[in-house]
Amino acid sequence: MSLHGDYDPQNIFAQIIRGEAPCYKLYEDDDVLAFLDLFPQSLGHTLVIPKRAAARNILEIDPDSLARLMRVTQRLVRVLVDELQPDGVQVAQFNGAPAGQTVFHIHMHIVPRFAGLGLGNHASQKAEPAELEALQARLVKRIDG
Ligand code: 5GP
Repeated sequence: MSLHGDYDPQNIFAQIIRGEAPCYKLYEDDDVLAFLDLFPQSLGHTLVIPKRAAARNILEIDPDSLARLMRVTQRLVRVLVDELQPDGVQVAQFNGAPAGQTVFHIHMHIVPRFAGLGLGNHASQKAEPAELEALQARLVKRIDG
């Protein structure tokens, strides 16, 4: 049933958009917000979300919001690759719990991949705040620079 249902305005990403919950913000404009994943599967794991679309998944989001989301996603993939120099990068998006979705506000995952390093478990191990802060500073500097 998680593929279909009502949008819950109390989901954690909606709270982050409203400023009711914190995040390690990398980028924000009128339509899109990007921040570091709190439980990263690799160094630089980033989430990109629409701010105005109350959409749980790709079935529900309007095409214009999706296009804006993807434009920022591509820009941030370039930033992450420039700054972190990974050997590969995954861009992923899950719809419904059986597909791996755990937060029901549509989001893009950007997951840099490094040769020889496996992928951490999904949404399981919280990163150290100091590491996230340092990474945020590096990436924001490159985005703004
Ligand atoms: P999904 O499983 O829905 O595709 O992805 C949800 C992502 O959100 C997971 O990668 C998980 O680690 C991340 N996440 C869950 N709660 C929080 C939070 O409070 N803050 C941040 N920044 N990320 C979160």
